Amino acid sequence: MAAQPEPATILTFEEARHLVEEQAARLRPHGKELLELLDGAGRILAEPVVADRNFPPFPRAARDGYAVRAADLAELPARLKVIGEIKAGIASADIPTVTAGQAATIMTGAPAPPGADAVVMVEYTSRQENVVEIKKAVATGDNIVPQGSEAKRGERLLTPGMRLDHAAISVAASVGRSHLLVYAKPKVAVLSTGDEVVDIDVPPGPTQIRNSNTFSLAAQIQAAGGEPMLLPIAPDEPVRLRELIEDGFEADMLLLTGGVSMGKYDLVEQVLTEFQAEFFFTGAQIQPGRPVVFGRIAPASAPAQPKYFFGLPGNPVSTMVTFELFARPILEALAGLSPRKLVFLSARLKQEIKTKTGLKRFLPAILSGEFERSEVELARWQGSGDIAATALANCYIVIPPDRERIAAGEWVPVLLR
Ligand code: AMP
Ligand code: MG
Repeated sequence: MAAQPEPATILTFEEARHLVEEQAARLRPHGKELLELLDGAGRILAEPVVADRNFPPFPRAARDGYAVRAADLAELPARLKVIGEIKAGIASADIPTVTAGQAATIMTGAPAPPGADAVVMVEYTSRQENVVEIKKAVATGDNIVPQGSEAKRGERLLTPGMRLDHAAISVAASVGRSHLLVYAKPKVAVLSTGDEVVDIDVPPGPTQIRNSNTFSLAAQIQAAGGEPMLLPIAPDEPVRLRELIEDGFEADMLLLTGGVSMGKYDLVEQVLTEFQAEFFFTGAQIQPGRPVVFGRIAPASAPAQPKYFFGLPGNPVSTMVTFELFARPILEALAGLSPRKLVFLSARLKQEIKTKTGLKRFLPAILSGEFERSEVELARWQGSGDIAATALANCYIVIPPDRERIAAGEWVPVLLR
């Protein structure tokens, strides 16, 4: 007798998301690789990066002006004797010592000389031959960044699990790291299902639909730090579907699309049940994406290392949204990224929204506006199949399940795409 799917577990959005986050927190990345610095941009750091010297390595002038002793400026204007010039990169042996009544010309980025304890900006000075007249007092330490104040030699500057953005790349460069250890990208199998779904390079028959989900998902997987592994389209027929799911479990994670609704030919849950799958949920109270399925199997070859899967609804926008809301945290965890929460922005609604209660909605929308005045409006979409309208959107407006009407001018939560 064929195995029967477990009873449906439909969660609220928050419950489903928390469950995904809990599972993600248990996952570890699988491997590491050493890359040249720039190839590491966008990847997840797999080793600590430490300061190889103090930052700054010397007390650094933050302005162009004169290095002085603050005590010499008790009475203004003060006249000080200029004893030399200190430019950025000056040899240590050439740095003069400033004593009482003296000043040295100094440039931004140059080492503050011994004896001086502040820099007066050039704007507050006038110079005649080797005498500078200073019109403004400074406090001790003004315009000098103390040695080691940004970081001490040996201090950890970057932590494993960080995504290497341009600022992190800058830090790595500043400590002389031309190579970095990053986590290997997890392989994510993508399996689209449906008798009507055909490859994009064959002409579709009148009732056939080109397979767009495999490609939207592959692009999302790449953007999230994974390596997509594209499987052939599965028909709505259990034997071939089972074979392809088995191939999919060769990867670190499996994403299926389609076949998770209530129709007679929606076989994905049933076939996954035959793999002794454990289902965490079989639906979420969201729109689009209500039939989303999340679970895992324990492979016979490595029972302690479960493989996670998602059955994403086949409607193209549902597929995209449910990937972002639920599949992404699992993929990011396998990629080695430290866990992070979903971040919502707020924007003023441009046009009233009327909807039905009961589901939390993530509706494709267009965020615009000038400077701090963000405005958002719904994309003119025809439902979860409307890829064209979604492609023109740049975010989702989030509507709580208890709201029927949201007036123009209200602040609404927005999830960036
Ligand atoms: P399903 O979730 O299988 O009931 O499919 C829901 C809708 O999404 C149907 O209109 C399908 O034709 C469409 N669909 C399913 N899979 C894909 C796919 N891979 N690419 C584009 N559309 C799809
Ligand atoms: Mg289908």
